[in-house]
Amino acid sequence: MSDLDAQIVIVGSGPGGSSFAEVACAAGWSVIILEKGSNHLVDAEPPYAAKQEFSNDELKFIYRHFLGPDPLVEPRTYRRSTADGERIHTGVVNNVPSTVGGGGPHADGKLPRFREEDFNLLSERGPIEGADVADWPIDYVDLEPYYGEVERGIGVAGAADANPLAAWRTDPYPMPPGADMFGATLSVPAAEKLGLHPYRAPTGANSVPYDGRPACNNCGFCSEYGCPIHAKGDPLALLRRALQTGNCELRAESHVTEILLDASGRQSTGVAYLDHLGQRHEVRADYVVLAGGAFETPRLLLHNEVANSSGLIGCNLMFHFQTMVVGGFAYSLHSHRGRSVTHLQDDFMVPTAEDLVAARSNGLPWFRGGTVEHGGALGPVFEATYQPVTDTTLRCAHQRCATGSGHSPCRAKT
Ligand SMILES: Cc1cc2nc3c(=O)[nH]c(=O)nc-3n(C[C@H](O)[C@H](O)[C@H](O)COP(=O)(O)OP(=O)(O)OC[C@H]3O[C@@H](n4cnc5c(N)ncnc54)[C@H](O)[C@@H]3O)c2cc1C
Ligand code: SF4
Repeated sequence: MSDLDAQIVIVGSGPGGSSFAEVACAAGWSVIILEKGSNHLVDAEPPYAAKQEFSNDELKFIYRHFLGPDPLVEPRTYRRSTADGERIHTGVVNNVPSTVGGGGPHADGKLPRFREEDFNLLSERGPIEGADVADWPIDYVDLEPYYGEVERGIGVAGAADANPLAAWRTDPYPMPPGADMFGATLSVPAAEKLGLHPYRAPTGANSVPYDGRPACNNCGFCSEYGCPIHAKGDPLALLRRALQTGNCELRAESHVTEILLDASGRQSTGVAYLDHLGQRHEVRADYVVLAGGAFETPRLLLHNEVANSSGLIGCNLMFHFQTMVVGGFAYSLHSHRGRSVTHLQDDFMVPTAEDLVAARSNGLPWFRGGTVEHGGALGPVFEATYQPVTDTTLRCAHQRCATGSGHSPCRAKT
């Protein structure tokens, strides 16, 4: 018997670490997951019940950082290069949730697949000077069966034929799409009038009871919140299945600071971490899996001066780049109801001949846009902060509906 603590130690319990844990534990490997954030998701002891700590509370999640990291307690810093000195900014820098489940509990789970071309951009579109455009070593055809497996594993609601620009797929989604948001019932026909192709977004939120979890009730506190009823396809299901094998141990509030190496300096032997009291511990394992997310994994590697033979660790990172176009209506869209976004459109991801002419006339060989989300304001406080309420805006959307009844917390119901 070896003196190892586990065969595998995983750093991070987000969608990446949890998926790995589920598969490894099912195959009989012993696993320890170390997560620096708190555990609000699942009891780490049998019977591994879902915790009941999430709520529709905008102050708690958005302004008091329930899913962490709290920029006051765990400030992040930023600099462009060493010439900037130690830092040019302290506070929020792309804070990604630090909690059991990682970004999963607070993401709203829009889960479209990559298209075939995404795997071969260099061959299909060509190089761009100053950018590292590369082909993947695998194609869509290699990944397609695994996309299906993941969609069934976490529970994705969608319609296979909804998006005319999507890649082919073998199996249907495990659930039909959920209800449309009111705002989307207005923006979708408007987009269609312009010749665009909005579609019901494949979403990691149960539209019907699935995998022992209830159907989403469209509470609306979805993006940036944990789901109070666990209808979301966050890592809860993956972690529970891993824990239920008896091969998995989950340690929250365990911040990995060091990758332990053997005498050659090339082989990992485990990791060291600080617990919530600042005490140092070591976990010895055959394999170390780094699943700390796109920021923290490179940071941990660079901090440990682990071999960076490609020189690429931490380079070329583009993180959730979003451009917002905001429009106002003379009545409430009730956008605090629904799954934050229910419709997407991919038209701008497929450049037209006109787009390519525009690119070339601006000195680029080509460009592509991204997915467009049809969404609304994220919450009542957010909306009130950014949209001054006037007599005009107080006209209720239900003047447009059949009942005219209004529903709480409709501000027009006076
Ligand atoms: C507001 C928002 C909305 C989103 N919506 C969507 C969406 O609709 N669809 C979609 O596909 N994606 C969405 N995402 C992105 C998605 O959440 C991430 O891509 C996903 O969570 C990445 O998973 P991961 O496991 O790689 O990393 P993460 O989810 O970031 O998990 C990494 C975990 O590792 C932990 N960790 C890091 N370093 C250490 C350390 N040193 N020691 C111990 N633990 C550590 C972190 O605390 C974290 O819990 C959204 C993200 C945000 C922020
Ligand atoms: S909208 Fe649905 S999936 Fe999202 S938090 Fe509410 S109940 Fe959960």
